[in-house]
Amino acid sequence: MSIAEVAGVRVDTRHWIGGRRVDSADTFASISPIDGSELAQVHRGGQAEADAAVAAARAAFPAWAALSAGERAEILYRVADAVEANIEQLSQLETADNGSLLRSHRRGVMPRVAMNIRFFADYAANRLSHPDFETRGHTNHVSWDPSGVAVIITPWNAPLMLATWRIGPALAAGDTVVLKPPEWAPLTASYFADLAHEAGLPDGVFNVVQGLGTEAGAALTANPGISRICFTGSVPTARVIAHAAADNLVPCSFELGGKSPTVILDDADLDLAVDLAIEQYDNAGQVCLAGTRLLVQQGIAEDFTARFTERAAGIRQGDPRDEETQIGPSIHLKHVERVEGFVERARASGATIAYGGERNTDLGAHYFRPTLVVDAPAGSEILTQEVFGPVLTMQTFATDAEGLSLANGTEFGLAACVVTGSRERAEAFTKHLVAGTIWVNCFFVRDLSAPFGGSKKSGIGREGGIWSFDFYADVKNTVYAPNGWTKE
Ligand code: NAD
Repeated sequence: MSIAEVAGVRVDTRHWIGGRRVDSADTFASISPIDGSELAQVHRGGQAEADAAVAAARAAFPAWAALSAGERAEILYRVADAVEANIEQLSQLETADNGSLLRSHRRGVMPRVAMNIRFFADYAANRLSHPDFETRGHTNHVSWDPSGVAVIITPWNAPLMLATWRIGPALAAGDTVVLKPPEWAPLTASYFADLAHEAGLPDGVFNVVQGLGTEAGAALTANPGISRICFTGSVPTARVIAHAAADNLVPCSFELGGKSPTVILDDADLDLAVDLAIEQYDNAGQVCLAGTRLLVQQGIAEDFTARFTERAAGIRQGDPRDEETQIGPSIHLKHVERVEGFVERARASGATIAYGGERNTDLGAHYFRPTLVVDAPAGSEILTQEVFGPVLTMQTFATDAEGLSLANGTEFGLAACVVTGSRERAEAFTKHLVAGTIWVNCFFVRDLSAPFGGSKKSGIGREGGIWSFDFYADVKNTVYAPNGWTKE
């Protein structure tokens, strides 16, 4: 019961604490979204395992923090190498566990996992600095000190990518880490722990506690021995974790949900606009950044709609291991039911389901068809709440000001995509858009140096580049007086 063979890959389903595997009495099932089969029974940690992992991370902290950033980088580069050497195994495992496309794991996601480790190790070793500055002849010197134990809690839609995008900077900053992977896709975290160990990461520097959020996750965030909480997930869970962080008085970074707009202005290149709009169905809509609200300017709405719906009709849904598949299943039956609920309520509210709106039962219960909802009443749930499924809405607007008001018209502010032929219009429009990331005539271009995070209810704080180190490290300013050096 401790080792599962999944898609030809052997993976340990126990916790990884202090450099060894640890059992729990209870387990939970990891189910494949591809066909609903049980992949593994995974050990279900709680208070005891969380406490043991934090204790192990605290014990490992002094020695890890005492290394220079360059010394830590040497080890982390080897971890990145190990990920690169195991891209196929990690891709097979992640696809079996969370149902995302195998080809995108192979070509994009898992190489990015390696980059998450390598980039931040290199950044800490070679780029992390701030110029000294003077105050009345005194010199201010800024440095980034390791802060302690970072607890990292991640969702299922891109489990290892989202975990390593935090593990990389946290370890590079000299923190030690306890990761709580998502219970709907827990397996790659465990495989990664073995890779990191074999690559030479010292025992206790990185730990994994498997289990449910309300058990293992809650125990970790409440532990008084931690120094940071990084949470990626939904707004309701963030509210619970914010209380734990307040009681514990530790800084937290929240990357939360979105209801982002894809705004198509009437001078847009329509081929490009259609391409970008179709991309919003990627990963069966289970992308926090997805621009699921298509906002189209009236002059081009008819033409755009005709081209877009023709393309959408051709989207190939299927087994995510098939090279030809464009979108696969939704993560879990409970999640499919949640998506169905949104669509049913939209229909009941008077909205029209232009296409889709139901499961693709030929493929199985996990496969919800790509769906477009039009004519939804202003302010209705389908236009304002995150569905996190393959469901887009379309609204039209007359003026740029009206488009902007629609774009900003939710409680979220994670991202936005704007399609226009005019740089001036883009600048005027984006100036007033409230979002952490805006793409103009492109989508999903990510540089790890760039700040990333959400405005409004989409998050608290920014990560990426120096912003990651500002969060994971204790930023320190040392002020040197201009004199006093000569005293023997
Ligand atoms: P979720 O909030 O249900 O769970 C996320 C993680 O939190 C899981 O590991 C879960 O076990 C854990 N958790 C749950 N309750 C907890 C508690 N009381 N204490 C500690 N941990 C707890 O979210 P989900 O359904 O797994 O993920 C989908 C959500 O994540 C969507 O809202 C999506 O937009 C968001 N997301 C955001 C980003 C981003 O970068 N902004 C990226 C990906 C996903």
